[in-house]
Amino acid sequence: MRTAIGVDLGGSHVTAGIIGEDGAILGQFEQDIEDRSFDAVVASLQTVVDNALKDAKAKDAIGIGVGSPGNIDPRSGAVLYSPNLLWTNAPLGERLRKRYPQPVFIANDARCATLGEHTFGSGKGTQDFVLLTIGTGLGGGIVSGGRLLIGNRAGAGEIGHHQIRPTDGFICGCGKTGCFEAQASGTGLIRHAFAVASSFPRSQLLERERDKLGSKAIRRAAQAGDAHASAAWRNFAADLALGLANIIAFVNPEVIALGGGVSSAGDFMLDSVRARVDELTTMVPRGTTRLEIAKLGNDAGQVGAAKMAFQGGLTP
Ligand SMILES: [Zn+2]
Repeated sequence: MRTAIGVDLGGSHVTAGIIGEDGAILGQFEQDIEDRSFDAVVASLQTVVDNALKDAKAKDAIGIGVGSPGNIDPRSGAVLYSPNLLWTNAPLGERLRKRYPQPVFIANDARCATLGEHTFGSGKGTQDFVLLTIGTGLGGGIVSGGRLLIGNRAGAGEIGHHQIRPTDGFICGCGKTGCFEAQASGTGLIRHAFAVASSFPRSQLLERERDKLGSKAIRRAAQAGDAHASAAWRNFAADLALGLANIIAFVNPEVIALGGGVSSAGDFMLDSVRARVDELTTMVPRGTTRLEIAKLGNDAGQVGAAKMAFQGGLTP
């Protein structure tokens, strides 16, 4: 069977999967990233790809697809700018093409995840689809008329950096105020909890060390009825609903799938935003965009990166 290597490069670890043409994951190799310098990350990436290629199931691998954070030059595979990895003009494609005889394709990680989820997951069979990955950050991608949108300079789909609270929001990693990512990511949920803390002087919610505080603890406390966590969650959900309604106004997709760690909240998350999304959906016929939880979970990125290798680019 034809296979491709699909690589998902994140801020804390890198995963290479041996992926079949049907999207099946035949093997997976992972390594933690502690040093985010370009050379160290490339070394880790090459280790997982080398291990995958040594596996018998990858003996007919036709190519290597890599999903990386940041804005990527599709031709050279250079990472032009990544606030996440703190790279500018990093020649990732050049390095990998020197090392591997197979064709190498590199694109933004969220676009790869969108391609994977659209082809094999919750977007399968739809012509108009949006994936929103809600984790530490918030990434996304848009499929319109059956085609993944790339944009003029591979910048289409940067949904996380449209501003929803430009005057009273949190500062985003990109430098702007009140970006969708700053307000409605896992990090955003934590910041909402700090923002309302003064109204809950007896709350124990934020007692633990700030760098060990996770969004999951806050979400679970909200589900259990904790007053402080519930207030934070309500503000988070209101901001998430605002961005979702904007996406519906821009592209009226058939499905918006919510993926990433925070969406493991499942129905609790969907139920928190549905009514408000409907309220904010004014010009687009209501009920024509379904909100769902993404199906491929953390695997969407590597499956999509492999799909990119099979079809010779993000779009065929
Ligand atoms: Zn931003």
